[in-house]
Amino acid sequence: MVKIAIVGAGAAGLFAANELGKTKDSNLEIHVFEQGAEVNKRFCPLKNGYACAQCFPCKIMSGIGGAGLFSSGILNLHKHIGGNLEELCNKARLNVEEIIKQIDDFFLEHGAPPTLFDPHENGKKLHELKRRCAAVDVRFIPIRQRLIGSENTPKVIKSIQKFLENDLGIQIFPNREVISFDKERRLTFKDGKTEQFDYILFAPGRWGMIWLANQCEINGIKTFHEPLDIGVRVEVPSIILEEICEEIQRDPKFHIITPTYNDFIRTFCVNHKGYVVKETYEEKIVGVNGHQLKKDGDSENSNFAFLIRQFLTSPLEDTTEYGRSISKQTSILGGYKPLIQTLGDLRSGHRSRASLISRNLVQPTLRDATPGDIAMAFPYRFIVDILEGLKILDKIIPGVNNASTLIYAPEFKRSAKRIDTNEFLESRAIKNMFFAGDGAGISRGIIGAAVTGIIAACGILRKLHLE
Ligand SMILES: Cc1cc2nc3c(=O)[nH]c(=O)nc-3n(C[C@H](O)[C@H](O)[C@H](O)COP(=O)(O)OP(=O)(O)OC[C@H]3O[C@@H](n4cnc5c(N)ncnc54)[C@H](O)[C@@H]3O)c2cc1C
Repeated sequence: MVKIAIVGAGAAGLFAANELGKTKDSNLEIHVFEQGAEVNKRFCPLKNGYACAQCFPCKIMSGIGGAGLFSSGILNLHKHIGGNLEELCNKARLNVEEIIKQIDDFFLEHGAPPTLFDPHENGKKLHELKRRCAAVDVRFIPIRQRLIGSENTPKVIKSIQKFLENDLGIQIFPNREVISFDKERRLTFKDGKTEQFDYILFAPGRWGMIWLANQCEINGIKTFHEPLDIGVRVEVPSIILEEICEEIQRDPKFHIITPTYNDFIRTFCVNHKGYVVKETYEEKIVGVNGHQLKKDGDSENSNFAFLIRQFLTSPLEDTTEYGRSISKQTSILGGYKPLIQTLGDLRSGHRSRASLISRNLVQPTLRDATPGDIAMAFPYRFIVDILEGLKILDKIIPGVNNASTLIYAPEFKRSAKRIDTNEFLESRAIKNMFFAGDGAGISRGIIGAAVTGIIAACGILRKLHLE
């Protein structure tokens, strides 16, 4: 019997389990260990109800289905979104397009809605948008997207879990936290029990990323810092984004290089007719995010993250620490609430005040934010990037650079440390130990995590001569 353990039942873990299980090789014993609860038992302790999208870290990140369970479940079916999936697949000699299709088909089989949002269907509009982008040196990434919808994701994950357990014979253990591992591939669980495996795949997501990096360092596996994604959330009247979001792409992705600093800034997580929400990163550090829950209905605004990517080199390579310190400074200034400022005030160097915001054309969907001056908290370089980036974006989406546009800060996406692996995502230091998903710094997003889970599973099958 070959014993395989998968740690984490998010997209990476579940898709790896499926890839291994579908060989139907009775010689494989596949166990998935998940520290969080079953789908039906996942509740947010802060909200005293189902997980909300407003707190991090929170039970929302943990349990069968992983962090994606209570998300709107946008599947970005693109080889360059959610990690460098094309490069990862090429290195493993796998066909990225085929794998993305396989993942999408699997979600469809388990109840994802059949509607596909494909910008290429509106060819004329897409062409015109690309032309506008090219004229101002902006890259637009047309992406086919499927929206599972937050109301459907729990059902889809339950169906996947049932299939893995009943049809493929995989054993899934919720509430089974792994607290450590060693070089002999022994896992130690929270109850003190240990178990040795022939192969282990770690896929602990962002919930387990710090734990994983610490464990890797203890076991002599190298880790590297990934670049920081930090910035603001921008809120505008929804009509400004109507044409793009309703006729071309629900979650449009624009990539810009800012003129002064040559920094990369991008739109991310566009919530058309959605809401800005507060996110608690950790004690006393708050930030913002956006959501678009059907139950809340449409808002009059649309919002998107505007994120700068920053690499750091010696002496401070720890991008998470740098991001934390900026977010902390912003939170302190906001009295432990996010800061909100009109773009007009940010541009002219004035702090915003509640009286001015109450008269502003765009009214905030997040009320629990402190009017202030983001330039007091963010480095000058990032403020320049944001102002320049919005000015350029305005040439494609007229209106985003208006004085009444609302800016919330901070929006901070921490990256996990990248684990040193070979092309099949196997550790170079410990053989038969594999890593996948967001927690290993390899992916960002459901599709990316699933692709890396499949690559790692293929790596295991290759070693077992079962590919
Ligand atoms: C609010 C929200 C909305 C999002 N919306 C989208 C979206 O629309 N589209 C999209 O593509 N992405 C979205 N994402 C991101 C997406 O959910 C993640 O990229 C994806 O889930 C990553 O998959 P993963 O398998 O790597 O990790 P995860 O899904 O995080 O799963 C990892 C699992 O491992 C478990 N675990 C951790 N440590 C241990 C341990 N020591 N022992 C046992 N188990 C452990 C965790 O409990 C967790 O359940 C969203 C995320 C959030 C938080």
